[in-house]
Amino acid sequence: MSTDCLCDKTYDSICTVCPVSCHLVFRNGEITGNMCERGYTYMMDEIVSPKRNISSTVKINSSLHVRLPVKTSKAVDRDLLIDCTRQLDSIEVSAPIAIGDIVLENVLGTGANFVATRSILS
Ligand code: SF4
Repeated sequence: MSTDCLCDKTYDSICTVCPVSCHLVFRNGEITGNMCERGYTYMMDEIVSPKRNISSTVKINSSLHVRLPVKTSKAVDRDLLIDCTRQLDSIEVSAPIAIGDIVLENVLGTGANFVATRSILS
């Protein structure tokens, strides 16, 4: 994280926290365009340390499916997206899998788990 003053910078972004999709602007040290506090927090994260949820797939040993869809249980630093995704390359799970099962715990020490986003019975 940079310690440089951001007051003279301008950023704009679309809030992705809810479907309203407010257009947020950071200018002269102020955030405008947010309809709620969650948008303020989202924009502060975007400026200081942007984070993203990751969706991907892993191999599954199943009679019907070859890939299992997974996602992170919480957003991780955007700079770690590729490295986190690469951690899935060596993973192969076996059916049955229930939605929400942890496929990879605490990926790269972020505190986020990759979890199954669907159930596969066989
Ligand atoms: S600022 Fe609030 S209302 Fe607007 S998109 Fe973000 S979460 Fe939704």
